[in-house]
Amino acid sequence: MLSSLSRKISIILFSLAFVSACTESSDPANQSDKTNKINSSEANSPQIELTEDARFEKFKKEFMEKFWQANPTYALYSGYYKYDDQLVIPNKQDLERSLEFIESTNKNLDQFDQTKLDNNNASDFYIIKRQLQSYLWYLTEFKSGEWNPSNYNVAGAFGLILNTEYKSLDERLRTIATRLTNIPAYYKVAQENITTPTLEHTTLAIQQNKGALGVFETDIPKSLAKSTLSESEKLEMAVKLDSAVKAINRYLVWLEQKKAQITDGGARDFRIGEVLYEQKFKHDIVTDFSAKELFQKANEAKQALHQRMTEITKSLWPKYFPETAFPKNELLAVKKLIDHLSVKHIDRENFVNEVKRQIPILQDYIKQADLLDMDPSRPLVVRETPEYQRGIAGASVNSPGPYDATANTYYNVTPLDSYTPEQAESYLREYNHWILQILNIHEALPGHYVQLVHANKSPSLIKSIFGNGAMIEGWAVYSERMMLESGYGNQEPELWLMYSKWNLRVVVNTILDYSVQVLGMSKEDALNLLMNEAFQERTEAEGKWRRATLSQVQLTSYFNGYSEIYEFREAVKKAKGKDFDLKAFHNEFLSYGSAPVPIIKKLMLQKNN
Ligand code: ZN
Ligand code: ZN
Repeated sequence: MLSSLSRKISIILFSLAFVSACTESSDPANQSDKTNKINSSEANSPQIELTEDARFEKFKKEFMEKFWQANPTYALYSGYYKYDDQLVIPNKQDLERSLEFIESTNKNLDQFDQTKLDNNNASDFYIIKRQLQSYLWYLTEFKSGEWNPSNYNVAGAFGLILNTEYKSLDERLRTIATRLTNIPAYYKVAQENITTPTLEHTTLAIQQNKGALGVFETDIPKSLAKSTLSESEKLEMAVKLDSAVKAINRYLVWLEQKKAQITDGGARDFRIGEVLYEQKFKHDIVTDFSAKELFQKANEAKQALHQRMTEITKSLWPKYFPETAFPKNELLAVKKLIDHLSVKHIDRENFVNEVKRQIPILQDYIKQADLLDMDPSRPLVVRETPEYQRGIAGASVNSPGPYDATANTYYNVTPLDSYTPEQAESYLREYNHWILQILNIHEALPGHYVQLVHANKSPSLIKSIFGNGAMIEGWAVYSERMMLESGYGNQEPELWLMYSKWNLRVVVNTILDYSVQVLGMSKEDALNLLMNEAFQERTEAEGKWRRATLSQVQLTSYFNGYSEIYEFREAVKKAKGKDFDLKAFHNEFLSYGSAPVPIIKKLMLQKNN
């Protein structure tokens, strides 16, 4: 996982509002430093012509501003507060405006010659293009606003404004007051839009909108009492809050009625089926594989992992269980050995320190094995997760947001202080001696942190906003295998066994998602797959099942990115023969930033031919 990069697609879906066509103004204040440099050398020529890159930089800047204007809530979540008081009503006019925006942006994009752009801009060009295709599809084909009532929930943005101190409390409350205005109209339109809800998403919407009430009934009034707003402002706010609460309650009553109606038939199936799944896969992941192809790859990968795990278990069995015969059920034997090995783990008090200790070791190894470039001027700071960010225990790299870029990249590790002895033991067994090393590879070196450092060498707002999740997660998963294959851990069988269990999780997520959404897999079969073939505990498996009913495609992104990067590397290696240089390959691959893998492939091949 990489925090703060989670995509908020559902927010965008119904809020791409109107912006005028991109104007070709020639305001020199909009030009980047690079442009100015280019121009100064041509200062004497009568006609100053911008380079393709300079023109494109200008286009991107204008595009982003219009995008934020059209998507004020998405902007808010990205740390751009200029339109924070706007709540877009997801009605027909909004849809029309969105379609116009897509069309006019496409026209403007077509004026650029991608082959004349540098790596960073060429990949940005394709990212914007793909993004527009994706929006169009969400608006005109997927239309989840008709069947997923949980798309409609206003609370998150209000909570964010209330809890983020980007301006004074009084100013934020005034923003909230303006933003409250559209809530009744918003929920009225929501009801009109929902024509064929699924039972699962209706249940989710009821649960989430009930939770939303607290923001308006408790949180905002509490802050209002602490503020120095005038009595008349406070009164006006109270009236608006009352209307908001009533609107949400009306929506809840309506949802409960809907739910009762569709419980005994008439609900839309939560499974989206093969046609929509393939399309969503193409838009969300951005890949050269089809979903069906990836599903087949995942099944093959599962077989290969099971075989490898069985072989390792057979070879290690006499060492750990000298008195016991090898069980008939091979997967049970694997599970038994994994359980046995998991007792080797760090003490709970030393969890954070152990992560700190491992980082320089990984760094030295990467340098010595000559795997890729690192940047000592951008060190990774390992720290205990700040209190306000602590949810579930774990570790994640904190990527600075596009508008709050800080010098430090933090590796947040949550200490196990709040755990009971049983919870801590279970957690430590999961992140045992071997898995903890793989976690550090994934999150930090050469996983997320290293990828981020490379991406930041050519900063791109486009990529930090529309960064491709499959590429980002795929790189981290790829880096685990690449490290082990290069000799990290000295090919220790125990490490490979634990790695295989870890890798099996992303493989089985892919199988599960496709099987549930396209092939109609039952809950019972899903739990069997997760618990008996991927060695997961029941709680984890139940959670996965629920996720597979409520979301589609996202669960496949890790395995897709990983497979696509690995296969691409193998193809380049084969083509180059003895001239293949792993370090050069990695550095070039990462130089395109968090772009979709097929775009990086295309641009790397274009450059090297
Ligand atoms: Zn990750
Ligand atoms: Zn223990």
